Amino acid sequence: MRHRLIVPGAAALSLLLAIPASAASYAPGAPGAGDSYYPESGNGGYDVSHYDLRLKYQPKTDLLEGTATLLAKTTQDLNRFNLDFGLKVSEIRVNGKKATFATSGKHELEITPATPLPKGKDISVVVRYAGKPSELKIDGYSAWHRTPDGGVIAQEPDSAVWWFPSNDHPTDKATYDISVSVPDGNQALSNGVLLSQTSKLGWTRFNWRSDKPQAPYLTTLAVGKFDVTKDTTASGLPVINAVSKDLGSYEGSARASIERTTEVTEWLESVFGPYPFNSVGGYVPNVKAGYALETQTRPFYGKEAFANGTNVSVVVHEIAHQWYGDSVSVKDWKDIWVNEGFARYSQWLWSEKEGEGTGQELADYVYAQHPADDPFWKVKPGDPGPDNQFSGAVYDRGALTLQALRNEVGDRAFFGLLKSWPTDKKYGNASVQDFVTYAERKTGKPLAALFDTWLFQPSKPSAPALKKAFGARSAAPAKAPAQPKSWKSIQATNTVHDHGHGH
Ligand SMILES: [Zn+2]
Repeated sequence: MRHRLIVPGAAALSLLLAIPASAASYAPGAPGAGDSYYPESGNGGYDVSHYDLRLKYQPKTDLLEGTATLLAKTTQDLNRFNLDFGLKVSEIRVNGKKATFATSGKHELEITPATPLPKGKDISVVVRYAGKPSELKIDGYSAWHRTPDGGVIAQEPDSAVWWFPSNDHPTDKATYDISVSVPDGNQALSNGVLLSQTSKLGWTRFNWRSDKPQAPYLTTLAVGKFDVTKDTTASGLPVINAVSKDLGSYEGSARASIERTTEVTEWLESVFGPYPFNSVGGYVPNVKAGYALETQTRPFYGKEAFANGTNVSVVVHEIAHQWYGDSVSVKDWKDIWVNEGFARYSQWLWSEKEGEGTGQELADYVYAQHPADDPFWKVKPGDPGPDNQFSGAVYDRGALTLQALRNEVGDRAFFGLLKSWPTDKKYGNASVQDFVTYAERKTGKPLAALFDTWLFQPSKPSAPALKKAFGARSAAPAKAPAQPKSWKSIQATNTVHDHGHGH
């Protein structure tokens, strides 16, 4: 309010006249990225290129202290902009100078820099903060898991607000350096490769780097005591797997599943093309949850995923997401089929390779499982709505869609699409419509009606649609199709994809 103290006079007037046009164009950045399901997710007015997170975490108390440095470029003239964040902030600097800040909405941090920022300017934003993530409740819910020996964060569609300030939408990807200090004897796991590990005065610092574009929700942290295995794939890609030391009777099945990651990655490379990131692996912390998440380069697996024995199918699903979901991400959360339809279909392809049921046999089985009046068919995988974003239909009907496409265009063209799409759209964002347009262009076939039938109609595709897609045999099956051998392990991953949303 300092300007109120200035006595209006000739000097002030001439200053005002000198900059009227540009001053008028400065405005606050939007509090959301424009997502149709989650209007508060992300923000407008800038684009982040890099996050440097320097953190300290005390497992005993759940206290997380951090300094986040964001490198960004403004995309409009800004006099204020938002980050998404929930922990308590003590200081913010923009381009080195102290900024003022306030909170609003569910997780908005409104930052007013000392001087307005012109469009196209490179900026640095330093945020100092501290808090207990498990005590941060948004809509009565915390995505942060406390474990007996630490804490873990991996959640969809948002998780960053519990541990670092970000532009929390998949359309703003960035690279990450994540440095975490924990008491000696504990480990901090995150994305990418471990650059170094140093110990000093009772604290060990782990320095992780993920050097390819990564969405905030795909960024993960786990602190606790883990058995870590390190290896490299035949092509030289670092593999880092970790299993909590206190998984009890789940330890064997968890380890036996995630140790298949190298083999699964090599097989998926043969289907989808070169792996897009600097490392691969997975981790199983001691959390009661049974869901899994495709956190970039290092998927999270809730231990309950392995309660009944090994499940390689879930590993196939999460590693497939590295291409479909992580490298090529949704433009808007309504485009979830671009992630989940393909990740589920990769499980069907694994089943086909293993001789446990072909894609066609799984499609026939899914189709027969759900009578026409089953609510399953009410969900439109192409735009399921936020409440059904992770419903079984997005996965199973989503994969059914891909079998219908495969039958329509033939194996050669279909597998060509599976490989060229992640290459052509690498590190980008895409909508369902983008895939439809792409498939039509690549195959030279009109496919809009097929996708409309399988992705956008709230009803069971009719016998003619099925006949067109699956051929005469499936249109009037003499008897119910037999249950494919892989069905149970694939179905076990349905609860895995109940992402545990309490909100
Ligand atoms: Zn998935």
